Amino acid sequence: MAHELDIIPGTEWGFFTLPRPMCIAGPCSAETEEQVMETARGLNDFGIHVYRAGIWKPRTHPGSFEGVGTQGLKWLRRVKQELGMKVCTEVASEKHVLECIKYGVDMIWVGARTSANPFLMQEIADALEGTDIPVLVKNPVNPDLDLWIGALERLNRAGLKKLGVIHRGFSTSASIPYRNDPGWKIAIELRTRYPQMAFFADPSHMAGKRVYLQELSQRAMDLGLDGLMVESHCNPDAAWSDAAQQLTPAALKELLEKLIIRENTSDNEAYREGIDALRARIDVIDENLLKLLRDRMGVSQAIGRYKKEHNVAILQAGRWEQLLADMVSRAEAMGISAQAITAIMTAIHDESVRVQNNVLER
Ligand code: PEP
Ligand code: MN
Repeated sequence: MAHELDIIPGTEWGFFTLPRPMCIAGPCSAETEEQVMETARGLNDFGIHVYRAGIWKPRTHPGSFEGVGTQGLKWLRRVKQELGMKVCTEVASEKHVLECIKYGVDMIWVGARTSANPFLMQEIADALEGTDIPVLVKNPVNPDLDLWIGALERLNRAGLKKLGVIHRGFSTSASIPYRNDPGWKIAIELRTRYPQMAFFADPSHMAGKRVYLQELSQRAMDLGLDGLMVESHCNPDAAWSDAAQQLTPAALKELLEKLIIRENTSDNEAYREGIDALRARIDVIDENLLKLLRDRMGVSQAIGRYKKEHNVAILQAGRWEQLLADMVSRAEAMGISAQAITAIMTAIHDESVRVQNNVLER
């Protein structure tokens, strides 16, 4: 089932400016009024106009710093009034939403632990009903695209149309250099389904460490995402939360300057002709691939019949493992990755087993 969302693009919310990336920056947590103001000034000075700061912090262990609470909203209000920036913070409950509305927060976001919880999402959606405040929904901690879409649907049904998403990666037990698994595949899928929806990446929570911020931000831009939410702190090493991943405003400025932004398309005549010719070649190859697959499935069907006549089971695991191993080594010799050929052959093999099963059931 297609889940329709009625969405107003981020460029029409009145505070993001193009060209890409639309940028949201600010500390993981608001800590003191001075830290909030100093960081905001540093960012505002080079053209960041949307400020983030966590006020209520979802921490792993009780007893860690859990945010300054409502007093932080007063500091954000000061950022608005003195610097003219737009401000946003994370909400996880009805109470948070009502406080944000009361203090004139311009935009809110829902964190990864909260978007994974339909009860909380519904509570937040109900509390927001009747407002038109923009809401950004981070991906749930687990790589579940439907859960992410469901969270957006709840907000949309409550009448909120200024909706966007923040991809911050997924919890994983695999040993990877980053704090969270980028799992870009899910982001691309969501982007493809809702191309009009403001799409941010959060390289900070994905990376967990400063050194990876540049490459992850570049990746997000190469995938054509609209913006970045980056954690920035006037004194990162002394931050009360997420110290290892925060950047000074100056370092963020440098990161943004180093980004290479490629356009999603080009109006240039020569480009159009060149790309059309290349795409035509791809179309012919895809057509041939389809015919080959059709022929291959025809042979699978014949094999199915033959096995049935001779009372032989469909799946011979040894044969499949051998076939896959052969394909992997031949593909690698042609410059095709083991991962890619394994995914392709597994899909073909699954379909082939299904075709043979159909023969058996007839
Ligand atoms: C945050 O943005 O500070 C935060 C807690 O992020 P996440 O929900 O992505 O972990
Ligand atoms: Mn953080």
